[in-house]
Amino acid sequence: MSLDFHALAAEFGTPLYVYDGDVLLDDFSTLRALAPEPLEIFYSLKANPNITVFDLLRRAGARAEVSSLAELRTVLKAGAAPENIIFLGPGKNEAELTACLDAGVYAIVAESFEELELIDELTEESGRRQRVLLRINPARPPSAARLTMGGKPRQFGVDEELVLSSGSRLREFTHACVRGVHAYLGTRILDAKAVADNTRYVLDLALRVAESTGIPLDAVDIGGGLGVPYFENETELDVEQLGVELDQAVDTFRSMRPNTRLIMEAGRFPTARCGTYLVSVRSVKRSLGEDFAITDGGTHQHMAAVGVGSFVKRNFPVALLSRETDEPTGPWHLTGPLCTPNDVIAKNAQLPPLRKGDLVGVLMSGAYGPTASPGLFLGHGHPAEVVVLGGVPRLVRDRDTVDDVLARQILCEFPDTTPNGK
Ligand SMILES: *Cc1c(COP(=O)(O)O)cnc(C)c1O
Repeated sequence: MSLDFHALAAEFGTPLYVYDGDVLLDDFSTLRALAPEPLEIFYSLKANPNITVFDLLRRAGARAEVSSLAELRTVLKAGAAPENIIFLGPGKNEAELTACLDAGVYAIVAESFEELELIDELTEESGRRQRVLLRINPARPPSAARLTMGGKPRQFGVDEELVLSSGSRLREFTHACVRGVHAYLGTRILDAKAVADNTRYVLDLALRVAESTGIPLDAVDIGGGLGVPYFENETELDVEQLGVELDQAVDTFRSMRPNTRLIMEAGRFPTARCGTYLVSVRSVKRSLGEDFAITDGGTHQHMAAVGVGSFVKRNFPVALLSRETDEPTGPWHLTGPLCTPNDVIAKNAQLPPLRKGDLVGVLMSGAYGPTASPGLFLGHGHPAEVVVLGGVPRLVRDRDTVDDVLARQILCEFPDTTPNGK
């Protein structure tokens, strides 16, 4: 069922993020169905931290992987069970670690020996014990990931060689108990074989670490990084092949370690497809022979589509959503309200003739949208977000008002700054 974008724009205004809850749940269940049963899916809130989006996934069986105090509070507020929460990320602060201990999360993923010491101290002070997984920076370059996280000098985790040569050090911590490992090898992986290879690598690494350091393996977090196709030359992950390959990888490990909890992280895969960034055309113009549609949406709310940081600008899929039309007639530049030439949502996109008032959607936008964008640029703030489930739209995040944007600024009146004599 396609959504009534006209009605949504009329009721909630634009720019607007629309998440199709049915598609969200479909994509999560695809993931759940392909992953071998012992593999638990931990949803990475970073991809889309909206509390209702998380809650829908949680009800469908997702656990939570969080990386900040706000994300931790979000999942606790939505009712996630502490044993289904892990906290990871470089540079954690004491408030975050203490909140993890207070909540009794299943595991904190330590990124360094130094952090392990800090967690151990805080845990001792609190009179508790905390399970810790050690994040490892794998030695092998991962295959086919767009954004590699391993096999290179990285701020994440402890280098594989250092872990393997650390002797009994990991067992010396008595309050923060290292009882497993984590490795995340990359993101936007579209090759099933690469995901399976990575998984085998991490499971094997876990066994080698357990052997050489003597830590027990309560859990192994194999990372994830499943991709979705955004651009013309990309194809979807072959989920059937992935299922078969993961089964094999996991079976071998399970036969040796039947009681180890197996964790897979997924952010983009379940959320990307369900989201549409809906914008209105404010005006159209022709400049030196090229057509521009200036819309109310842009870089400040959808940095990924704008392609900031990527070398070549490639368009997310875009579509005219407000009226049935004929075929696309020509290339359009979709731009936004910011005073920078980089504020281009799509460049040379094939679209039907556009006019003022048209609604255009940037598709595949449910992951890394507004919260991964510089929302305060020009003071526009966060857009509204809506979830439509079974045809019923509900507001799940109100748009920022100008007062919201200004509220935390402080007008400081320094006494002696008036020029002499004025
Ligand atoms: C960003 C991140 C994820 C989520 O990655 P996706 O590609 O969105 O699934 C999972 N784990 C870690 C450690 C991450 O940094």
